[in-house]
Amino acid sequence: MQTVNIFNIQHFSVHDGPGVRTVVFFKGCNLHCRWCHNPESIHKEKEILLYPDRCIGCGACVKQCPAGAHSFTEGGHRIDRNKCIHCFRCCEECYADALVCVGEETDTETVMDEIRRNKGYFDHSGGGVTFSGGECMLQTEPLLELLKSCRREGIHTAVDTAGNVPWSSLEEVLPWTDLFLYDIKAFDPKVHKACTGVTNERILENFRRLAESGAAVTVRIPYVPELNGTQLEGISSFLSGYPQIRAELLPYHSMGNSKYHALEETFFAGTVPDKKAVEQLKKKYHFY
Ligand code: SF4
Ligand code: SF4
Repeated sequence: MQTVNIFNIQHFSVHDGPGVRTVVFFKGCNLHCRWCHNPESIHKEKEILLYPDRCIGCGACVKQCPAGAHSFTEGGHRIDRNKCIHCFRCCEECYADALVCVGEETDTETVMDEIRRNKGYFDHSGGGVTFSGGECMLQTEPLLELLKSCRREGIHTAVDTAGNVPWSSLEEVLPWTDLFLYDIKAFDPKVHKACTGVTNERILENFRRLAESGAAVTVRIPYVPELNGTQLEGISSFLSGYPQIRAELLPYHSMGNSKYHALEETFFAGTVPDKKAVEQLKKKYHFY
């Protein structure tokens, strides 16, 4: 049994691989995508989400905080995150749920118990479990143990990855993974760096090796018009060398914005692309 850092387990997802799926979100990522709709996934450590609209001003958090990190000013309720020592007493005390601790260190057996709950739905729908994040590949050992347990129990597995890891890690999980959901976010390394904080040479090389290994891979391309709109042609041309691989275009949405507010972080407010324009791009570049 291994420990694993996660921030959510979502049941009955129909967007992350075939059929009805349970999605296990690992916490921690080595990319920092400007459009990320799960900003609470980026840091490996537990964090506090603050929802001021739920706060009833009881002051319990101020009293409980040993670091004096909570304050109420004209600007509203603030947490000085530099002072915070991560004891999470404030979250325990806040019965209005205005302070929510996100992230937990759990173990692979507990996660397997959650996965097994929906085995009937998986069997009926052709679904299974998707390990996502964050970047699940950064916690290779617990991931591998979960993949092996699922294989033993006949549960279909998908690994959702941005591929920015050593090839040896992918090679290790490859025999135990039924499907890779592989993100390609830009083709030009400079644009990739501007969008995510890292260049993409390793990501594209890992993709090539994965595709040539015969693994089942679905490519997922986030589409954020202002940031990577110029990249679709290059990605499409690159993927034309892999006609067996399906590529899905995922248009930007703004549903993560409230979580940036709750983390007191600034966020990229992009344009949500028009549905018709997205359909035209899919047709033009042979994406789904
Ligand atoms: S404990 Fe919760 S409800 Fe009370 S003041 Fe703090 S954030 Fe607001
Ligand atoms: S986690 Fe602990 S130190 Fe941090 S703000 Fe809450 S009570 Fe204060």
